[in-house]
Amino acid sequence: MKPILVGQAPNAEGGGPPLTGRGGRRIAEFAGLSWEQYLAAFDRINLLDSFPGKDGKGDAFPAEEGRRAAERLAPSLAGRRVVLLGKAVACAFGIGSERYFERGDLNGMDVSVAPHPSGLSTWWNDPGNREAARTFFSALARRLRIEDLWTSPCAEFEGRFDGCDSCRKCCSGDTDERYFIPLFPGELEAAKANGLLADHLVVYPEEASPGNGGNKATCRVSRPDECGAGKRYKPLECRMFPFWPRFGDGFLRGVKCLLARSGLRDHKRSVGDLRASMVETDPNLLDFFDDVDMGGGYVDAQRG
Ligand code: SF4
Ligand code: SF4
Repeated sequence: MKPILVGQAPNAEGGGPPLTGRGGRRIAEFAGLSWEQYLAAFDRINLLDSFPGKDGKGDAFPAEEGRRAAERLAPSLAGRRVVLLGKAVACAFGIGSERYFERGDLNGMDVSVAPHPSGLSTWWNDPGNREAARTFFSALARRLRIEDLWTSPCAEFEGRFDGCDSCRKCCSGDTDERYFIPLFPGELEAAKANGLLADHLVVYPEEASPGNGGNKATCRVSRPDECGAGKRYKPLECRMFPFWPRFGDGFLRGVKCLLARSGLRDHKRSVGDLRASMVETDPNLLDFFDDVDMGGGYVDAQRG
């Protein structure tokens, strides 16, 4: 289910679906989405049904009315990823002191508070704050793309770069466990359920990653262009290779790949973004990234 953004109320002009004015455009920009992508990526709702009037430079927000609206709305948000926009909305839900973008459970909601997107707050003037907003909203927006990654080809993560054609060492082409492929919990099941072939992967169920599900596999074929792009399923680890993101901003790097780091800068950034998105979708994946045993084929990216 899509994340849902909860705003205050319609603006003075009224009309239009919730969060389709200037605030919505600001969120789309920070999420790195086109307007159409923004509209498709999020469910959106306002706490109040009508414009409550002005209060100084900003809009008024009648606290008691907001609290009653939040009380009515909360049961329908249980089990969902919810973003409350602005401290007034957070306060209506009984959230007083959480820091922006922190994630918590509130009566079954998976909830974060983000600054009100109107731009009136001086919070938006700080470049560090704007960067934090960019990271938060873009990770939130990419939740949908992760679904695509599980189940379909994705050019951004096809795992082939200039220089690969004369190498092709990515794939061991045998069952050398030194280079096993970690499969995320549910990854292979989703690929198969979507009709992708996985006959090239040898799965070792007994080698599930410690404490966090998933599997280890090896691959029977020997060329990275024999999978992906509508052919056999290319596991996420193969798409991220030669990087494996770990412990916040850290990376492991596959030692058999001799490509220059400078040529892989964009790919490395995409892999880091992917980790942020996946963890945003399912916080349990943090353990998978950090705990899974990558074997001897990886070293710290600073050294590799
Ligand atoms: S090991 Fe590196 S250079 Fe070789 S095919 Fe894989 S990504 Fe390309
Ligand atoms: S799944 Fe594809 S990229 Fe991964 S080891 Fe097999 S052939 Fe290579």
